[in-house]
Amino acid sequence: MRITSDSIASTSGPTLHHSSSYSELAPDVVEQSRSTHGGRAPNILSPGSAELLKADIGTAGDTRASAPVLSNNRAFNFAPGPGMLFEDVMLQAHREFMNWQGTGISILEMSHRSPEFGSIIDATRDSLRTLANVPADYEILFVQGGATQIFSSLPMNLSKAGDTVDYIVNGYWSEFAAQEAGRYCNVNIAAIDETFTTCPDRATWQLTPGAAYVHYCANETIHGCEYQEVPDVGDVPLICDMSSNFLSKPLDVSKFDMIYAGAHKNVGPAGLAIIVVKKKLLGAARPETPLMLNFEALAEAGSMLNTPPVFPIYFAGLVFAKLLALGGLEAMEQYNRRKAALLYDALDQSGGYYTYPMRREVRSLMNVPFALATPALEAAFLAEAGEARLLGLKGHKVAGHCRASIYNGMPLEGVRALVAFLKDFQKRHPVDASADLEMRDE
Ligand code: PMP
Repeated sequence: MRITSDSIASTSGPTLHHSSSYSELAPDVVEQSRSTHGGRAPNILSPGSAELLKADIGTAGDTRASAPVLSNNRAFNFAPGPGMLFEDVMLQAHREFMNWQGTGISILEMSHRSPEFGSIIDATRDSLRTLANVPADYEILFVQGGATQIFSSLPMNLSKAGDTVDYIVNGYWSEFAAQEAGRYCNVNIAAIDETFTTCPDRATWQLTPGAAYVHYCANETIHGCEYQEVPDVGDVPLICDMSSNFLSKPLDVSKFDMIYAGAHKNVGPAGLAIIVVKKKLLGAARPETPLMLNFEALAEAGSMLNTPPVFPIYFAGLVFAKLLALGGLEAMEQYNRRKAALLYDALDQSGGYYTYPMRREVRSLMNVPFALATPALEAAFLAEAGEARLLGLKGHKVAGHCRASIYNGMPLEGVRALVAFLKDFQKRHPVDASADLEMRDE
């Protein structure tokens, strides 16, 4: 299939008390990961955070199966993005909000050209470099406009008019990215799963010799399909949309030429997106590329071509420090695997009461779409879940049904609460096995 600019129809694409939340990261994992990071202290952006982070991991090994402890009337938020964030990081940002480190002003009021903000953006970049082991020949860019802006401006930066680019399509976001690329170059859909229930295997990809790059999405947020391995495409630049699984597990940046991700799932507030790009890819932008969309210009300006999203950058720095303190991405992966296993086991053991469309081998660690037998049952499920303070479970409008997003910031207690609710709801709303379940696909 080829996408050209003619084939583009339109411009739009298809109080929780967390002090124990991460207490269940296995202590050995935390220790091991600390030593992987050279025992290095996290890049703490403010003095207060050190104790906070220590307190959080200090109770590692506590495996009690307690009911969630809610405070500040907060709820477990399963929304796909903006998603649930670490509460202690939010509390730190809250404490510093009015007066950052004695400067007398808020981050929101601080000049981005000030030495203070300079130290914040540098620390944020350095923490990410440490956390994700980003090699020295890669730039880290902080961008406004989200992941959509990045995939829309990708072809201008990495291809010439007339070039062919390869896209793998297995969900809404990879399809949208391919459509956008069709405005600027010839798009070859090198592999597609039209059912959006799996990730086309690398062996099936029909790559174009001489393609300017290959693009794929590591985790399709809406459909819950996640690539388990990084595909090898030889010398062709490999570009990956990691918006919904960035920093959820260890990452070998050297296998990619460019990774990008919107921040508002695993990293922090909306308004920020991150690019990690090999330096040698920069410098090939088409002359007509707007300055603000030019990756090389952004890199040269230290991500400050204009006023950057100061608060999201600051907040991302706190999250990176938190992840380092928790034991890095290895520890995060183990924790995320535990949460996902708990939820998938509950769905699998429901006797078909809850079903999910994606193939087992590509089930996402981050986004878990699921369906109940009828729209009426789903409506009741969502309403009652809301009453139980389990929020954000409605599926995306293009997929319908339900979805639980369990990003880094979702504590195990939240997944336990959801699992308990799933079981309880099923008991209270039995479905006659002989009932017509055709509504399931509506
Ligand atoms: N790619 C993926 C995989 C996503 O999940 C999203 C947003 N949910 C986007 C791209 C678009 O992100 P943004 O809203 O930052 O443009």
